[in-house]
Amino acid sequence: MNPGKFNSYLSLIYLVLFFLFSCQKKEMTYYEKIAFNDIALKNATPEEWRYNKKENFQTFQDFQKLKKIKPAEGKNIIYLQPIGEFNILQKKQIELAKQYLAKYFQLETKILPTLSNTIFPKSAKRIRSNNQEQVLARYILDSVLITRKPKDAVVLMGITEKDLFPRPEWNYVFGLASYENGVGVTSMFRFYDGNLTESNFNKSLERLLKISSHEIGHMFGISHCLNANCVMNGTNNLTETDSHFARACSLCQQKLNSTLKYDNQKRLIELRDFFEKQNLNREFSRAETDLKFLK
Ligand SMILES: [Zn+2]
Ligand SMILES: [Zn+2]
Repeated sequence: MNPGKFNSYLSLIYLVLFFLFSCQKKEMTYYEKIAFNDIALKNATPEEWRYNKKENFQTFQDFQKLKKIKPAEGKNIIYLQPIGEFNILQKKQIELAKQYLAKYFQLETKILPTLSNTIFPKSAKRIRSNNQEQVLARYILDSVLITRKPKDAVVLMGITEKDLFPRPEWNYVFGLASYENGVGVTSMFRFYDGNLTESNFNKSLERLLKISSHEIGHMFGISHCLNANCVMNGTNNLTETDSHFARACSLCQQKLNSTLKYDNQKRLIELRDFFEKQNLNREFSRAETDLKFLK
């Protein structure tokens, strides 16, 4: 073969290789794939959280720069602290919340022995006009939970059957969390209409799963989500909570995973199986859609 012909063959091979290389699509990340299943937020109505509270969008870079709580060797367990007098159905919901949170955060989750409501002094309570007793959420964080946080706990979350209020001027709050101390509290009180029964069990369970994973999400440094419909959206009332997904959006999942470093696909399959077993059908089909986008 003459050198001229050889060179033109070589150029042809380079050209083919160049085309092959440039035509090869970069494999999408897990988050880019499941982002196809993110649903855009609608404009907030005056009753909704985003209408009055102007919060900043926390980007992934903002989140990475944050000084925040992370699990470490010997300090990586999520603890739940029930406070109050719970009936069988309420105890069943706490047990299911434990199972769910273990899958959601991919961390071992344990329930501590129940504390009595007598732990709340008079100064930490108030009576509303309907004779309903409420407990100051901040008191639970500062005076009940911080001192009881087990040595191997990464976060500790109280669960109470009493209604909570965060400040005198507020009517109530579903939950409250501290970014610095890794403690938080969720109240079951408003998740069922006065009485937890077999017929409102699943609806209130879904609310408990959303609010408890939301509060622990805060403890791991995730701010209210403005990216898409997401469990980390701020909420003012139950209608708003019900309209939010239990599914964290792709951005919030990316934030969570950058701290907790779990296997995304394993987590998704475990959550899907949980939703299926508990007949939480909308969340089950959302997880199924996520899995389809991964294929
Ligand atoms: Zn929140
Ligand atoms: Zn989100």
